[in-house]
Amino acid sequence: MQKLSIKDLELKSKRVFIRVDFNVPVKEGKVGDDTRIRAALPTIQYAIDQGGRLVVASHLGRPSGRRVEKFSLKPVAEHLSTLVGKRADFAEDCIGEAAQSRAQALQDGDLLLLENLRFHKEEEQNDDHFSKQLASLCDGVYVSDAFGAAHRAHASTVGITKHVTKAAAGLLMQKELDYLGRVITNPEHPFVAILGGAKVSDKIPVINALIERGVDKILIGGAMAYTFLKAEGFTVGKSLVEDDMLQTALEVKTRAEEKGIELLLPTDHQVVDSYEPVKGEKIIAKTIPIEFTNLGHAGMDIGVETVSHFSNALRDARTIIWNGPMGVFEEPPFNEGTLAIAHAVAEAADRGAIVIVGGGDSVAAITQAGVADRITHISTGGGATLEFLAGEELPGVTALNDK
Ligand code: AMP
Repeated sequence: MQKLSIKDLELKSKRVFIRVDFNVPVKEGKVGDDTRIRAALPTIQYAIDQGGRLVVASHLGRPSGRRVEKFSLKPVAEHLSTLVGKRADFAEDCIGEAAQSRAQALQDGDLLLLENLRFHKEEEQNDDHFSKQLASLCDGVYVSDAFGAAHRAHASTVGITKHVTKAAAGLLMQKELDYLGRVITNPEHPFVAILGGAKVSDKIPVINALIERGVDKILIGGAMAYTFLKAEGFTVGKSLVEDDMLQTALEVKTRAEEKGIELLLPTDHQVVDSYEPVKGEKIIAKTIPIEFTNLGHAGMDIGVETVSHFSNALRDARTIIWNGPMGVFEEPPFNEGTLAIAHAVAEAADRGAIVIVGGGDSVAAITQAGVADRITHISTGGGATLEFLAGEELPGVTALNDK
């Protein structure tokens, strides 16, 4: 079912509540990577151009229901002003007098950013009274552009929709639903999924859903791979493994094989002798075949042979989704495998494949590798993207009105 779009709304002279995901890194009062802010700009600009009066709200970090200065959105308001090219007013609280008076003062095309929603515990509790207070800041018009927060039923993503007349998807939200929706309903084949990161348990529902939906190949890297390798009987030493997932990993592998799906695991990896890097000491890493792993080794990244196998598996792909790093991406040189995969998916996109990348580390790798503009769609959701791909309902999407 298609959702109502911001383009279906009459915004002129109306106060519109726009929920965005401005959960960006802020250090010493300055915004770091502003990808998430930029991603919401088309919606914000559209609402401004339509003469709407914008009340913009977001969460930032995990302040756990109380005011924590380092999680203030004030620096974001300043950054937003620069990006939009007009002043974004800022309300010191997201409800109450501070927010009300500023929202009332808005003129056509003006914009107001509210303080962090999560300074109130009622936000994450999806409290009805709090939802109503948020809704009272607008003229019955709500737009959600916060795809990254849509898997959580919170006051600003779900509760508020009960107290407005219209709840619509913003342009970013629509784009996410379009691209990800196409992948789960009608992917062009060969369809290849690349999964990495630490937690197998997080990704099992997605793997199962992909198997059901006829994915052709699944490439598994990162720490996740060690649970699969150990389940197959390989020695993985001190590499990160989820021991309670060994049986599940075997079942997944069997189901994939029954369906003729190729499940590729690393054949070589970069290892260190101690998992915890010692501060000040140079990390000595070496690349070895998986079967040479001894009990003292910890696997930190996929090796060059694996990069080559994975890249070959992507060669004829028409649809690719990628979520999760291939190694301990935060600590060079263990970012090499992930960066190599970033280049490989970009090359596949150049050949016409639809490439969708989600999850913080893989998106960071795409940016670091300088290939962001070659990727079909960079998803702003981490958990939300995985849940959507697993075929689960996102409460923040369900709550929007149907077209
Ligand atoms: P996730 O949140 O499950 O996507 O996992 C991301 C994390 O996985 C990153 O912080 C990586 O450092 C970590 N990771 C990836 N590969 C490995 C590995 N071989 N050993 C330990 N951690 C890893």
